Amino acid sequence: MVAVDDGTRAARMRSHMERLYPICRSITGDGVRRTLDLVGEALPAPLVLERRAVPSGTAAYDWTVNDEWNVRDAWIADANGRRVVDFQEHNLHLVSYSVPVRARMSMDELRPHLHTLPEHPDWIPYRTTYYKRTWGFCLTQRQLDAMGEGPFEVVVDTTLEPGELTYGELVIPGDTADEILFTSHVCHPSLANDNLSGIVVAIELARTLAGLARRRFSYRFVFAPGTIGSITWLSRNGALLDRIRHGLVLTGLGGPGPLVYKRTRRGDRTIDRAATHVVRRRQGEVRDYSPYGYDERQFNAIGFDLPVGRLTRTPHGEYPEYHTSADNLGFLADEKLLDAYDALLRIVEILENDAAYLNLSPHGEPQLGKRGLYPTTGGRSASDTVMAMLWTLAYSDGRATLLDIADRAGLDFGQVCSAANDLAGAGLLERASDHPGR
Ligand code: ZN
Repeated sequence: MVAVDDGTRAARMRSHMERLYPICRSITGDGVRRTLDLVGEALPAPLVLERRAVPSGTAAYDWTVNDEWNVRDAWIADANGRRVVDFQEHNLHLVSYSVPVRARMSMDELRPHLHTLPEHPDWIPYRTTYYKRTWGFCLTQRQLDAMGEGPFEVVVDTTLEPGELTYGELVIPGDTADEILFTSHVCHPSLANDNLSGIVVAIELARTLAGLARRRFSYRFVFAPGTIGSITWLSRNGALLDRIRHGLVLTGLGGPGPLVYKRTRRGDRTIDRAATHVVRRRQGEVRDYSPYGYDERQFNAIGFDLPVGRLTRTPHGEYPEYHTSADNLGFLADEKLLDAYDALLRIVEILENDAAYLNLSPHGEPQLGKRGLYPTTGGRSASDTVMAMLWTLAYSDGRATLLDIADRAGLDFGQVCSAANDLAGAGLLERASDHPGR
């Protein structure tokens, strides 16, 4: 596998985000299709993003696929015809799923349809009305303050009619049909952390996983609109849900704060232990499940009970820029995106390699020196390397896994894993069983 330096990877994520940012996405429509086009183009050959289209009106458990929404234009103009709020300037200006409107209105009539953030007078809020047929504009408080009493010309040139819900799927096959699932929503318009960060980190992860010489698991990446998209995906993939051994919802990875892992509903799945190990060693935070948030709510629902956690940084609603125009490309830090990508690789490393081993020389401590296992050179400190071997020998009773041992020893999984490889190479350790559970 060709090593890619961080600068190249960061530049690639930036350029994907710059192309994705201006697109007006929603839960359906041209913006989702265009986004999936760009995700597909960003994947290296031979990876192919398969696109699925589900007609409006299709039932998905308790939900129904909505009519498709598209925007040609939208604006509010003053008496001189000057656009004082203009969708062309920022797609957050239009409430997502606004129904068509052409009207002349006073400020009194218009005001109930206007949304601002008085506490952040230069920011545009993000609002949606997916399941209630109405319309609205979002604007800065400063714009509103300058508007006067009207009259205003209001134009919402949208279509809301039967079409399709679209999502994309990518599968990278491994040695087994057991799958690790990564999902990222694709339904937010020009919002960077809460949407694009998850998409571009997922693309980089897919690129790297595809380049691995061997994969124990198969990997599935789903890029779908939030809630209705994941529920629709679940409703059409019942046959493969049993194959999902582990999963993560990815979003909010480029903003401020340390990594935050949200546990699965059960809280004791293998993904919970793997992600906790990685996130805690990066001074991140681990939280219990709650039935509010992103698509983990759907995957963890009792009827599916899938082992899917969520990786973010500071979660939704806990940073002021969330769901506002201030969640823009300048809000994201390259090093945060790279760190999230790296953490995901470490989690995958655990899922791929965790196993129980058996100490084949259990009667006292074996002599490492005569087997050449005391390192004389190398980048890692000798003591960590030796300690990893001693811990591995001490606990490899055929039941404790390498992750158990790493957690107990306070060592990185990677160190314990390479110690186990060295010990197995010297005939001191034998692989007993793969980690069984999910
Ligand atoms: Zn959101």
